[in-house]
Amino acid sequence: MLQPIALGHKSLADYTHVAGRPLIAEIRELSEQLQGLKVLHLSATAFGGGVAEILYTLIPLMHDVGIKAEWQVMLGREEFYNVTKRLHNALQGNPDSLDAEEWAIFERFNEMNARELRDGWDVIIVHDPQPLGIRDHVPGHGRTWVWRCHIDLSTPNQDAIDHVVPHVRGYDESVFHLQDYVPPGLDGALVNICPPAIDPLAPKNMAFSPEDAAFVCDQFGLDVDRPLMCQVSRFDPWKDPMGVIDAYRVVKEEMPEVQLALVGSMALDDPEGWEFFNSTMAHADGDPDVHILNNLNQVGAIEVNAFQSQADVVIQKSTREGFGLTVSEALWKARPFVGGDVGGIPLQVQDGETGYLVSSPEECAERSLRILRDPDLGRRLGRSGKEHVRNNFLTPRLLRDWLHIFSRAA
Ligand code: UDP
Repeated sequence: MLQPIALGHKSLADYTHVAGRPLIAEIRELSEQLQGLKVLHLSATAFGGGVAEILYTLIPLMHDVGIKAEWQVMLGREEFYNVTKRLHNALQGNPDSLDAEEWAIFERFNEMNARELRDGWDVIIVHDPQPLGIRDHVPGHGRTWVWRCHIDLSTPNQDAIDHVVPHVRGYDESVFHLQDYVPPGLDGALVNICPPAIDPLAPKNMAFSPEDAAFVCDQFGLDVDRPLMCQVSRFDPWKDPMGVIDAYRVVKEEMPEVQLALVGSMALDDPEGWEFFNSTMAHADGDPDVHILNNLNQVGAIEVNAFQSQADVVIQKSTREGFGLTVSEALWKARPFVGGDVGGIPLQVQDGETGYLVSSPEECAERSLRILRDPDLGRRLGRSGKEHVRNNFLTPRLLRDWLHIFSRAA
C-alpha cells in the first residue's frame, strides 16, 4: 500500500554561496545531536503541487546532514481522491463539506494505509489532510508525530475543520505556514510556524541565461521578441487562470503585442483538474497569443524555469493560496511579479517593493501594464524580490526549522 519514493542526492555544502555561511554552520551544529534519527514523511502524492516539490529537495538535504529520512506515499483509489479533493476545498473555505459516506471513505483508506506502516520511527511527519487519520490507528509506530499543514485554513468550512482538529490534537507537534492558518482549539499539538521554501539549485530554479530561456520558449511557439505574461499553476479554480486571461485581455487592448502563457501541471490526485482545464481552454476562445500548456506537452521543471525566466511579468492571481511556491520561484529569478493579495503571497511580496498585490483582474492588468511599460521598475522590483527570497525562502532555512523540531524529539 505505502509506496517508498526514491530520491536523489544533494549536498548542503553546495548551498553555501546562495544561503550564506552562518546558516549552513547553524545547520551543521544542530544536526550533530541528530545523527541517525529515523524520520518518515508521509504524503498523498509524489507528483504535482507544492508538497512534492518541497520533499524532493528537503529529504535529500536531511540525508546529507545525517538524518535517516524516508518518504512514503499512501495509496488511494479514485473514490478516495475525490473525497480528499473535496476535503481540501472545504478546508480552504468551500461551502460544501463531506457527507457521512465520504467521511467513511476517508477513514477507511487511512486505516488501510496505517496497516502497512512499519514500526520504529523517531519522527513521523504527516503532510496535509489526506493521511491525517493514519496516526489514530498506529500511534506507537512513531515516537513523535508531526502534522505538516500546507493549506490555507484561515476560513474553513466548519464541519470539515471540526472533523480535522480532533485528529490533529493527537499529534505531538503541528506545523503551519502562517499563524493565521492555525485553527482554534489546537490545544495539544505544539504549534510551529514555518513557511515553505524553494530549492535554488534544482533544475526549476537554477540560473538560466536569457538566451537559453528564450531558446526553450521559442520551441513552445512563443514569440520571444514580444512581451510575455505568465502564470504557472495547477488548473484549479483557486488559482484563477480565467481571471488571468481577463487581465491579459485588458492589457492587450493597450499593448496588442502582449502574449500570455498559462502553464499548469495535471496532478494524478486532482480529478477536477481536467474539467477545469477544458473550461480554461474555452475561456481563452482560441486566441493564438494565449498559450495553455501542461506537463503532457512535455512541460517539466526546465520548461517551467524557462517560462518564468522569460516572462516580463509573472502572475499568480490566486484567490486562495496556502503559500504559493511559484511566487518565490519567480522572485528568485528576479522577475517582476503581480499576485493575489491572499494567503502566503503577501508574506513573499511587499506591495510596491518586491512586486504588486492585487484583488481583481482589472488591478492585475493595471499593475502588469505599469511593469511592461517601465522595464526599470520591473528590474528594481525583481532585484529586491530576489533578496527577500534569499533571506527567507530558500530550502536551507526550512531544513534548519525542521532540525529545531527534531531537536525536541531526539
Ligand atoms: N508546477 C510545475 N508545473 C506546472 C505547474 C506547477 O512544476 O505545470 C510546480 C510549480 O513550479 C510549484 C508547484 O508546482 O513548484 C506548485 O506549488 P504552489 O505552492 O505554487 O501551489 P500548489 O500546487 O501546492 O497549490
